[in-house]
Amino acid sequence: MRAARLHGPADLRIDKVPVPVPGPGEVLVRVLAYSPYGTCLGVYHNRGGRYVANYPIGIGADFSAEIAALGPDVSGFTVGQRVTAQSLDNCGTCANCMVGRTNLCLSPDLGRYVRQVCAQDFTLVSARKLCAMPEGVSDEAGAMLTGVVDALNAFDKLGLPEGSTVAILGVGAMGQGAIATARAIGLVPVAIGGRGAKVAMAVAVGAERVFGISAHGEDISASVLETFPNGFAGVVETSASDWGMAQAFKIAAPGAVVALTGGGALPVTNWDIVNRELRVVGVRGGPDQAGALRLIAEGRIDLSPTISARFPLEQIGEAFALLTGEGAKDVGRVIIRVAA
Ligand SMILES: [Zn+2]
Repeated sequence: MRAARLHGPADLRIDKVPVPVPGPGEVLVRVLAYSPYGTCLGVYHNRGGRYVANYPIGIGADFSAEIAALGPDVSGFTVGQRVTAQSLDNCGTCANCMVGRTNLCLSPDLGRYVRQVCAQDFTLVSARKLCAMPEGVSDEAGAMLTGVVDALNAFDKLGLPEGSTVAILGVGAMGQGAIATARAIGLVPVAIGGRGAKVAMAVAVGAERVFGISAHGEDISASVLETFPNGFAGVVETSASDWGMAQAFKIAAPGAVVALTGGGALPVTNWDIVNRELRVVGVRGGPDQAGALRLIAEGRIDLSPTISARFPLEQIGEAFALLTGEGAKDVGRVIIRVAA
């Protein structure tokens, strides 16, 4: 089978490798569509040397697929069924899994981040990570699920009443997913960040208003606070950057909940948190893959306006060049059609 593998930073090649065989608890799936997001770009460049220890290595996390074969003890799925898979594995039986917090599984073997790969014809997936794709979800929509799953987890933690305004930092893959999800569950999303075509995409997926930036790293918190002088009771940081973290805490109202989905330096001291009674919460993926798929199937979330380009697997190098090149500020999601 074909497998896109990194042989070094930004050195992506199509290799021929054997089709893997599913062991106990595993499912072999035929990948339909794959859409890279920020973490994939980190792996692609091996930013900070923290993503890749040994080359060559496969890539990809957000994908839709069709079941090709079941491992010996796997039940509940059928060959030919369309599925998506969350990135984190879980045991299904620990105290956290039993209350639905599968993204925080306590098993030392499974609770860590397990790198899924999907930029290849077939891949192995733990059966517990799979979720059947409903009829109304396209292969492409199934490959843009992570931002929605993370956002559902973040909004659950914010606990805002319906109709509330929520600030979302960043308009990349995670940000667009959060904007669309906020709108779908009755919140009013205000997006902060982005230039070029990404601003129009944020509006197209449901942003009430977008405070775009004119240059990378621009501090626009003052103009946001001119319009929203009390700040925001709920803030979701999706850019995983020092910029996003700084903006998030500047626009958080006293008593706000600030949800963090990625990296960036914490710009506040413990006394800032005490004085404003902030609640800072981490969002590590999310457990509600089925809920995310349901919102898409019902037509309440449509991320198709964020798709900028489509490539066959052979041209995955061009896809990553587009996502990481000069014009990236105008590029939303890129779909890699793995199955012909
Ligand atoms: Zn568990």
